[in-house]
Amino acid sequence: MGTLCHGAPLAPSQRGTTSARSSRMRLHRRIIAFAWRNAAMMVAIGPLASCQRAPASTEGRSASALADSSGGEVLFDEMGTDARGIPRYTRREFSSGERKLLRTAFGVDEPEGLYLSDSSDAALVKFDTKAKRCRACYVDSYRVGFLSLRLPRETWEDFEQKMRGKSASDFSPSARTLQRSLDGLDPEARAAFAALIDAGRHAGFRLSIVETYRSPEREALLFALGNGRTHTATSMHSYGRAVDIAVGDGRWERAATRREWVRFRKFVLAHGSGRFHIIGTADRTWDWAHVELESPALGLHSIDEALAFAARCTSDSARTHAPTSAQLGGAAIDPCVFVPAVPDDHAGIPQPH
Ligand SMILES: [Zn+2]
Repeated sequence: MGTLCHGAPLAPSQRGTTSARSSRMRLHRRIIAFAWRNAAMMVAIGPLASCQRAPASTEGRSASALADSSGGEVLFDEMGTDARGIPRYTRREFSSGERKLLRTAFGVDEPEGLYLSDSSDAALVKFDTKAKRCRACYVDSYRVGFLSLRLPRETWEDFEQKMRGKSASDFSPSARTLQRSLDGLDPEARAAFAALIDAGRHAGFRLSIVETYRSPEREALLFALGNGRTHTATSMHSYGRAVDIAVGDGRWERAATRREWVRFRKFVLAHGSGRFHIIGTADRTWDWAHVELESPALGLHSIDEALAFAARCTSDSARTHAPTSAQLGGAAIDPCVFVPAVPDDHAGIPQPH
């Protein structure tokens, strides 16, 4: 997996040298996340008055920062979402050079929209083009460095603009085709999902596979057509690491089906040593069917890591030596994008439209 993920931010040898610092950072993050959640529960905080992001204030920053044991700084606001499920957008101050780097590498125009997906070790750096201000306010979120139809150097705002008003006929027929076979998955995920579904059926759940691999183009089609099917153009489906699984008759709006589905979602979370993730909680979600398998080799796990990766992937030598990939139909791989480990005939080619 590591070798297939061209964009892996650190080589294994580099990981070794930073592992002690990383575990200290993670421990701090857990402690601070815990403290923050408790504080957030005690203080009834109303929703933000507007959709605008809170400006990065020096006062807030120093109040929310602790020195970590290696001399670095851990910020409250870089640790996942708060008790209301609202991302803690970073309050880090970015230099103009860093802003340029993030824009060039990842299409991130306003880095104030960056945050970590959660407070776990598997948390990924994500970007919202608009600030989310309540639990049920769904905003479009993108995993930084993930494959999509966004062109190299195009901002996410420009991508959204491009997608607005598109209809199904603007996409190729293959993007309108739904894949239900586990064969299109990343081989590691294929085995894990087969085992999960087998175990679930053994436990008495009536399960059906709704969708497995999804090309970046299909992901963009669902995004463009809306209807709440997806709120992102960067999906684990495009990495062959997500499967939509329906329970019973698949009608989550029916109380009996929903009860069974909640039971299955708890089963999923308990299975596979916590590597399977769902959207929302077991009993509260806008996407009942979605299950994904995490991969430490995919994505960026801190803003510092994203900046270091951006500096490398935008260098002249990274661009010059960008390999081509059979998975991408012979196209050059954007050095700032993680490449999926899915079988060749299932990998989508991100093409401009
Ligand atoms: Zn899904």
